[in-house]
Amino acid sequence: MKVLVLNCGSSTLKFQLIEVSTASGSNTSGGDKKLARGIVDQIGGPSSLRFEIAGAPVKQESVTVRDHQEAVGKVIEWLKSRPELSAFDAVGHRVVHGGDRFHASVRIDDHVIEALESLCEIAPLHNPATVSGIRAARAVLGAVVPMVAAFDTSFHSTIPDYASTYAIPYELSLKHHIRRYGFHGLAHQHSALRYGELTTTPKERIDIVTLHLGNGCSACAIRSGKSVDTSMGFTPLEGLVMGTRSGDLDPALVSYLADRESVGAAEIESWLNKRSGLLGLSGLSNDVRELISAYDANPRARLAIEVFCYRARKYLSAYLAVLGGTGAVIFSGGIGENAPLIRERICAGMEWCGLRLDNDQNSSMIGTEGCISAPRARIQAYVIPSDEEALIACETVGLV
Ligand code: ADP
Repeated sequence: MKVLVLNCGSSTLKFQLIEVSTASGSNTSGGDKKLARGIVDQIGGPSSLRFEIAGAPVKQESVTVRDHQEAVGKVIEWLKSRPELSAFDAVGHRVVHGGDRFHASVRIDDHVIEALESLCEIAPLHNPATVSGIRAARAVLGAVVPMVAAFDTSFHSTIPDYASTYAIPYELSLKHHIRRYGFHGLAHQHSALRYGELTTTPKERIDIVTLHLGNGCSACAIRSGKSVDTSMGFTPLEGLVMGTRSGDLDPALVSYLADRESVGAAEIESWLNKRSGLLGLSGLSNDVRELISAYDANPRARLAIEVFCYRARKYLSAYLAVLGGTGAVIFSGGIGENAPLIRERICAGMEWCGLRLDNDQNSSMIGTEGCISAPRARIQAYVIPSDEEALIACETVGLV
């Protein structure tokens, strides 16, 4: 079955066309064939389009794309122009926020679209683009092509109340639907499923901590294959230090900074999202590659890496306590998959709990899947490259 996976960001549309083998029994990517992929970048003005087919030259062009509707139109037009790609059976949409309404992937109909629209209130940065992508795909393809929504929050719907509730006046939480929703659920779920496949561990024995470290970063405690805590909260701002996000901080800093800098709370929130994290600490870049290059010569680049790794180690250790021990720690995301130095720093000094990396394995595991812990370490460590699209395609096939 061929599934078109669409992932609408605030100014981007990423897509993949995946042929899912229904015979492989894999829940992740085993047996799948990636037929095509691409991105429409900088939607809303002069944009760039990049389309790739396995084994063919990449097609790139600059063109004005006004909105997500037009972007989806361009992608489908390109696919339809290639006989080998033109027929797909279903569309899977990545949706960042499912609120307290969606606890699993769902077939999209008018009611689902209405519910997603109503969620834009608590996810104003993420859901509107997805909803317009869904509407556009429906307009172009018609209601005959089945569509599925897969949510970044739904994997975390198993987090118990004591871990998902903020200690603020309870009536306010109820009134405004405030709780720790968590994000990156598709990435954490993919890591867990793939770990299960790699180690032939049945779901009920998957007790792991997953660290998804990309531009956005989050940790997840997984017991019996289910999320029981995660570091992002009501929004993706909470938790680990990220590329441009601060992660955890004293909430009193918001009004303190607003007062001192004579700006509103919304402006401070934007600084915490866009000017903080690795970028804010280093004053240099949000990209770990640049910070590693500058590590020896630039004390702020060094500090940024130290703060990043320390926060990740704190969360990892907290989740060991949450789980009462763990079978493995999984690294994923652009940093987790490609930066041995960061993995080494995060795991440094963790021998007390039985987590010890194998230096050679860690250094050589770059962008590939495999075990990086020392041979007899009590807690194993793995690198598992993220493939949320494969998971969305599998979910789509399952529901269609
Ligand atoms: P997103 O969260 O946007 O999906 P990615 O998971 O692709 O992002 O992660 C992007 C980040 O990964 C970059 O900003 C960079 O910090 C890091 N990264 C990518 N490649 C490398 C590399 N080879 N070495 C170190 N860090 C890398």
